Amino acid sequence: MTQEHQADRATARRLRIRGQVQGVGFRPFVWQLAQRMGVKGAVWNDAEGVQIIASGGDLDAFEAALQSQAPALARIDSVDSTAEDQGECRLDFIIASSQGTGSDTGVTPDAATCDACLAEVRDPSQRRYGYAFANCTQCGPRFSILRGIPYDREMTSMARFPMCTACRAEYQDPQDRRFHAQPIACPACGPRIWLEADGAEISGDALCLSTQRLQRGEILAIKGLGGFHLACDARNPAAIATLRLRKRRPAKAFALMGTLPMIRRHAAVGSDEEALLEDPSAVIVLLAKSGAPLPENVAPGLATLGWMLPYTPLHHLLLDAVDGPLVMTSGNASGEPQAIGNAEAREKLGGFADAFLMHDRDIVHRLDDSVERLTPHGPLVLRRGRGRVPRTLPLPPGFEEAPQVAAYGGQIKSSLCLLKNGRALLSHHLGDLDDPLTWDAYRQAAADYARLFDHRPSVVACDLHPDLRASRLAAVQACDLPLIEVQHHHAHLGACMAENHWPLDAGPVAGIILDGLGLGTDDTIWGGEVLVGDYLDFTRAASLVPAPLAGGDAAGREPWRNAVMRLDQAGLADLADTLFRDHPRAVLRQAAKTGINAPPSSSVGRLFDAMAACLGLASDRQSHEGEAAMRLEALAQCAPDAFDTPYPFERRNAQIDSAAMFQSWASDHADGVPAKVSAARFHAGLARAFASAARTEIEAGRAGAVALSGGCFQNAMLLDLVKRHLKDIPVLIQTRTPANDGGLALGQAVIAAARTMRGV
Ligand code: ZN
Ligand code: ZN
Ligand code: FE
Repeated sequence: MTQEHQADRATARRLRIRGQVQGVGFRPFVWQLAQRMGVKGAVWNDAEGVQIIASGGDLDAFEAALQSQAPALARIDSVDSTAEDQGECRLDFIIASSQGTGSDTGVTPDAATCDACLAEVRDPSQRRYGYAFANCTQCGPRFSILRGIPYDREMTSMARFPMCTACRAEYQDPQDRRFHAQPIACPACGPRIWLEADGAEISGDALCLSTQRLQRGEILAIKGLGGFHLACDARNPAAIATLRLRKRRPAKAFALMGTLPMIRRHAAVGSDEEALLEDPSAVIVLLAKSGAPLPENVAPGLATLGWMLPYTPLHHLLLDAVDGPLVMTSGNASGEPQAIGNAEAREKLGGFADAFLMHDRDIVHRLDDSVERLTPHGPLVLRRGRGRVPRTLPLPPGFEEAPQVAAYGGQIKSSLCLLKNGRALLSHHLGDLDDPLTWDAYRQAAADYARLFDHRPSVVACDLHPDLRASRLAAVQACDLPLIEVQHHHAHLGACMAENHWPLDAGPVAGIILDGLGLGTDDTIWGGEVLVGDYLDFTRAASLVPAPLAGGDAAGREPWRNAVMRLDQAGLADLADTLFRDHPRAVLRQAAKTGINAPPSSSVGRLFDAMAACLGLASDRQSHEGEAAMRLEALAQCAPDAFDTPYPFERRNAQIDSAAMFQSWASDHADGVPAKVSAARFHAGLARAFASAARTEIEAGRAGAVALSGGCFQNAMLLDLVKRHLKDIPVLIQTRTPANDGGLALGQAVIAAARTMRGV
């Protein structure tokens, strides 16, 4: 008998729904839908998601509506429908009690305050008027307050707040949007806020007092969802200068928070940008400056500002009262993890903040704000954190039987990745493992993720570099399990392929991997490569001619060092002497000559530094990796016409040489050509050289697509220029995971899985 005949005869259907369907108001949604459509039966949660028994009514329409009208926070991976011959003949539709719990149901990311909750908070007739912790099944804290699975109130930091009668009634009412909203709270029973200074609570209305202080130009430490922020009035240059001084952060851009009308006053917001800002993940979106300028010291030298919308009722209430945008930078000492505990904040942020806006709901997971950037080719994820984790990614075809893998990522933008049940869980951004406190937090996160998601790896993956802290931890954790070391740039390629669902057996891809630094298979340091490879292996088809990293780590901090080395290499030592007259060039050249503390590197990240330093951008010192490159991109954007006249990079066999490029620049420089023109010609030349090297691989039939990854592809201009050269070729880019080292762990994980499955 065919399936169709069975369905015709059936009186009921059993629907199995998988995905992110718990803790998002899915059951009340199903209940209401059933009422509306005259469907009888039951819905309940179980270990794999949600199950429904449905009879009566138009079941096809019911099934379609389940997907098309699902609550905002739900993510449906699959709906399996089977006929039920002996379906229960219920006369009503009920929400039945949960059956079992499991870790496969997906923990929901934290979500920005929904419109309904915001309306209540602003309505004096509501009992949650002015309440900083209003939330419902459509919004509020989730992962940030989660101590364990299953996701029940008892397993969150809301456990210590017993519900009042009114909240309990909402919690138990299937018609209420707070039905089974685990973090439900109100002023009578939930968390509270207060303002404190010098260790003592200040009596009075905390919001009013905070507003007055911000308007006076003070700096507040504000406890949020995933950690503390340091906040000040974004229109007050003196307050911003004070914050920079206290935080010892001279140049790195500060994030801003504003309502949409506030953002529109200072930035260009297209409809795509607006949609991304308003996503429940409330990420920071980089937006081009436009309209009324904010003080330059918010983001010195950059053409973009990072904006986010308020995402908790506390933020909304504060912005309403201040009536202007706020600087909201993470509450930490430079390089350290953000503070999350009240005592920790008092201790660590006491020297930065004039007062603390505190609350008494514990933050369980430290989650930095996510940072994204929109390009004509989709969003770029610069930092993956609050609002985006712990959402999982489905693995590509061929990985159905992949083993459980734990991958430990890289060093500076560290993250972890767990593979299980055909899905990848890429952790939140964990930061630079050189910092001892970040290292502690990273190890804690590794333990937390394993416990929360009941992860039992049979394979462990890490970087090829055995001395990275992450690699050493991986070796310890692996114990008797196989430890698979993955080359850094192969991992970037793997991450890009996996995100784009490139099947396991679809053959090789040509990866243009433009990056900072990673150990190569020849023991030199790579970072400007065309790799042709699949999930199992790769070859290095082309790379940038290496230059010495003179001074080792110092070359990453001081762009002028890379400039001198590249100019020397191009026969322009005299020009280097002129440009960097006051710098200790002799020491550098000696190091390069002897090779001591000057390892050769093909890094394009460092090439960007070299070009930026030649143009006088952050040449002596950059306060963070990427500062010089970001300023170079900002400058290039000012000369769009110059993209048509790329500087020449010579390609000889497998080598891309920057010497001719620097010679062309030197003659432009002598002719007084503006720096912005040179910045643009540099971008265009680099893009053309690598795109054409990748094209060679495609045309020779050695690769089926081009993948773009590595930290340099955070540069939207570079991405766009490379894409333009490859218009007729399938190009894979990362839009949901970071192309920078934040995505490394994903690549390590899929490569380790593939090698294990294929026994290589
Ligand atoms: Zn809500
Ligand atoms: Zn209550
Ligand atoms: Fe990298």
